[in-house]
Amino acid sequence: MGDYSYERYAKIRDFRGFTDYKVTQLAGIKGTATISNWKNGKYTPKDDKMQRIADALEVSLDFLNGKTDEIECKECGQKYNPLDEFDCAIHEQFHTKILKAKEKYKCLLPYNELVSIRYNSLEKIRSGSEDIATELNKYLKAEFSHYVYMNYEDSRHYDFFEFAKSKVVEMINNGDIPQDQIDNVAKWYKLDKEFINIQGASLARASKNPQLMRLLAYAEKLNPEMLNMLEIQAKALSEQNKKEE
Ligand SMILES: [Zn+2]
Repeated sequence: MGDYSYERYAKIRDFRGFTDYKVTQLAGIKGTATISNWKNGKYTPKDDKMQRIADALEVSLDFLNGKTDEIECKECGQKYNPLDEFDCAIHEQFHTKILKAKEKYKCLLPYNELVSIRYNSLEKIRSGSEDIATELNKYLKAEFSHYVYMNYEDSRHYDFFEFAKSKVVEMINNGDIPQDQIDNVAKWYKLDKEFINIQGASLARASKNPQLMRLLAYAEKLNPEMLNMLEIQAKALSEQNKKEE
């Protein structure tokens, strides 16, 4: 059994605008003695009753016993702390936007799934997933959904393909797309090379690779002739590498 405090119960009851009577009715509990005994510290409802009380208040048992402070809005899917004014204000601000966006764009992914999809798919893409096309598409849909939910305005039109194109360029520049997949990705999303700015992209990727940065630090100390030799050798190595692939 968890540590269920009456005070916490009372707060969420008030947040819902319910009375004890209403809660017991919704929970299918006869009379309010269960609640008043709890209030007076005589007795804490058993787990099965507590579950029904939690259901009546649309919270989880973990919320009721303080293991978590978040609940999920059944309509929009946002997680927030109903006992925190700031959290409530944020929820309210986006609640209607999310519902309207979902109504207009049926293809949007459910809000409560976005965090895990965005995180998991990006990890898979970065680590060179075998099915990068599928992961990338899933990731872009999640990013697009998030973008539309957060920025929704009735008068604006949101185009997935346009969004995907600029997002993919951003990902390439961030080094999120493995080097050997860039050409494929550019083809799928109809990006021309100039648009991508290949040079900027490889610099950005290099800056995230500690081995390349170490190499660069040594290269900086070389005189022009030695640097020439290094360039010739590096070029030969990369050609050789290409052939072996
Ligand atoms: Zn909501």
